[in-house]
This record gives sequence, C-alpha cells and structure tokens, in this order.
Amino acid sequence: MSTNAMLSAGGHFSDLCANDPELAALRTSIREFLRADRDAHGWAPQVDSWLSCWDEEFSIRLGAAGFLGITTPREYGGAGLGHLHRYVVTEELLAHGAPVAAHWIADRQVAPALLVYGSEEQRRRILPRIAQGRFYSAIGMSEHGAGSDLAAVSTRATRTSGGWVLSGSKVWTSGAHHAHQVVVLARTSAPDPEHRHAGLSQFLVPCDARGVTIDPIELMSGEHHFNEVLFDEVEVPDADVLGEIGDGWHQVTSELSFERSGPERILTTLPLIAAVVARMARTNDIDDSVAADIGHLAARLTSLRQLSVAVARALVAGQAAANQAALVKDLGTRFEQESVDIVADLLDRTSADPDPAIQSMLNAAWLHRPLFTLRGGTNEVLRGVVARGMGLR
Ligand SMILES: Cc1cc2nc3c(=O)[nH]c(=O)nc-3n(C[C@H](O)[C@H](O)[C@H](O)COP(=O)(O)OP(=O)(O)OC[C@H]3O[C@@H](n4cnc5c(N)ncnc54)[C@H](O)[C@@H]3O)c2cc1C
Repeated sequence: MSTNAMLSAGGHFSDLCANDPELAALRTSIREFLRADRDAHGWAPQVDSWLSCWDEEFSIRLGAAGFLGITTPREYGGAGLGHLHRYVVTEELLAHGAPVAAHWIADRQVAPALLVYGSEEQRRRILPRIAQGRFYSAIGMSEHGAGSDLAAVSTRATRTSGGWVLSGSKVWTSGAHHAHQVVVLARTSAPDPEHRHAGLSQFLVPCDARGVTIDPIELMSGEHHFNEVLFDEVEVPDADVLGEIGDGWHQVTSELSFERSGPERILTTLPLIAAVVARMARTNDIDDSVAADIGHLAARLTSLRQLSVAVARALVAGQAAANQAALVKDLGTRFEQESVDIVADLLDRTSADPDPAIQSMLNAAWLHRPLFTLRGGTNEVLRGVVARGMGLR
C-alpha cells in the first residue's frame, strides 16, 4: 500500500489482504455500519479499544447488525460464516477504534471454545447471547505464581457429590468487574512432575456466584481494567464444567494461534496513526522526510497484515501454524509499540496546534504501550516457543 493510499483512505486499508469479493462486500458493510453508528452515537476512535472501551450498548447494536458470532452456526444465533469473514470485521472494528471491549473476550475466545468443547446445553444457553452482544466473559488463567508458566496454577477444584468446589485466586483478569462469567482454569488433580500440564480443567463461573470476590487492580493511568478474583469455596455444578476434566491445558492452547496472530496484534494503535497522518496531510506538513517515515510505517503495517492473513488462511486450511502465529505476535506487537514513538516524533515535526483528540489517543497509547507485548503470552516466552519449534532444545 502506498503512502498516498494510506492518506486518501484516512488509514482504512483496502489493499492486498483478505479482500476476495465476498470479503470485500462484508468489509464495505461493516464500514457503513461503523460510520453510521459513530455519527448516531458519537463515540470517538480510541487506541487499544479492545482492552479499554467497554460499551455494552455498542456491543448490542453490533450484534443486532449481525457482526458478532460470525463463525457461530446459525442454529446457535450466529452468522455461520468463516474465520476470514471474522478477520475482516475484526480488522475494521480495530481500525475504526470502535468501543468493542465488552463483547471482545466472549466473542473471540468463549464462543469458539464452546463450539469445540461445550455441551449442547451450554451452547444453547450462551452462544445466542454472545451473538446478540449481551453476554460478557472474563478469562481467569493467570495467578500470582502462574503467568507464563500456567502449569503452576494452584486454584483448585475439588469433587463433591453435585459438582465441584473451587478455591484460589486469579490475577490480571480483564473485565471481570463487568462480566457475567469468568472461565477459570483450575487444578483438578495433584501436579505430576512428569506431565506438568496434566490435571487442569476449565469451569464457567458466574461472577455473582457465592464465594466470588472481584477486587480492582488499577493501571498506572488510574484506569480499571484488571482485577484480582478470589474464589472461596465456590460451588460449580457439573453443567458448568467446560470440556473434559483434566483436558484444560489442551483446551486453552488449541485455539491460541488464531488469537496470537489476529489483527489485534497489529492494529491496536492504527486509529492514532491514521489520525496523525490525515492531520499532517491537511496541514501540509508532509515534506520528504515525513513522507519517508509514513511510507516506512505503511510498508511495515502492510507486510504484517499479509503475514497475519497468511497465518489465518493456514489455520482455516487446518495447517499447523503455531510458530508463525507466535512470530506474527512478536513482530506485530513490537510494531505497535514502536508506532507510538514514531507518531510522537511526527507530531513534533508539525507546525499546527495540538489536536486534543490526537493528544488524548497519544497519551493513552503511551500508557498502554508496555501491555502490548505482555498480554496473550509475553514475546520472550513466544520466542522460546518458536526456537523449540525450530528444533532448539
Ligand atoms: C493487558 C493485559 C491483559 C491481560 N488479561 C488477562 C486476562 O484477562 N486473564 C488472564 O488470565 N491473564 C491476563 N493477563 C496476564 C498475562 O497473560 C500475563 O501477564 C502473562 O502471561 C505473563 O505472566 P506474568 O505477568 O505472570 O509474568 P511472568 O510469567 O512472571 O514473567 C515475567 C517476565 O519473565 C519473562 N519470562 C517468564 N518465563 C520466561 C521464559 N520461559 N523464557 C523467557 N522469558 C521468560 C517474561 O517474558 C516476563 O518478561 C493480561 C495481561 C495484560 C498485560
């Protein structure tokens, strides 16, 4: 994609990737929805909107327009389309900086997990509400002593006559203070040093269940996204076990490649980049050196996008792409971090007065910047995955 194309499109990229005719039509319709919704409801584009911008009314409108539950079969209230359709919708939501945080985890992680591992009753109970944008979920994997090394999870579920009793604590649980449920990874049998990932299981735990306490952990900006979630002898019926007891590790890792290589590992700062480039074009601040920097940004973004779509296509075709997905996350999230420095430098070279909307996005981007390479498995750990995948012992 050329710098001119980036400028003229206001930063919403149409070239090259995931634009087969059917996907292009879908792209047009989600763009039209977003423009109309923004005009009607006045939300402003934000960076990192998938973590920060919780707006349940937006999620409900998005669901009503048919843009949630894209890969969920129609019998469960979804659109019955493919992963690349979902990719296109996700890309546009992020590029527009839309307020998507409320439904994000439920739509991205919980719906696919229910389709593969959920019981029929769980699917019928939860999937239609996810597709309507009315059901929100948190993921409870990390603990104080178990982040990168999830085998060290010590939250424990003990068998009772009617189900399970859950005790322990989770940390960094995004959105639990607003969500309907937390999907908890817990130990259901004693650790086996020979098979460290065995004996883990997943449970669907309502946030208002007796024994659940949700305490805020504030970001340095004062924002509240994270929580510590405490489970004090919480009773979980068998109907809320997700998948097979003892199969939790396999379940949480099997869908990770889609999540790691998706557009949210590349486009977190795009609303800021697009706004800065468009403003510099309007104020005639683009000399050769600025054009070269913007061209460099656009070239990196386009390459990353093609890599990301290539991984999505490989996964859809059933090919193994865990290493490629880990590499895309490493490259993509580092691009996201560096893009903040680059646009700040571009802004230093403008003659125009500061634009408050851009300044606000830049401030948010600075504060969220360290998070980009941590969430979803740190980049250092992913490089270990890649090295082992390439044969290193
Ligand atoms: C924005 C955000 C949202 C999150 N949301 C959730 C959520 O909703 N639910 C949830 O369960 N968790 C969530 N997390 C937690 C996240 O998954 C963990 O932070 C991450 O897995 C790292 O774990 P840790 O923080 O315990 O760091 P640690 O595992 O303690 O790692 C500390 C440092 O050591 C390095 N390191 C550790 N092991 C290795 C190794 N083997 N090789 C090389 N370096 C290593 C890491 O790269 C890191 O730099 C979120 C995190 C962020 C930043």
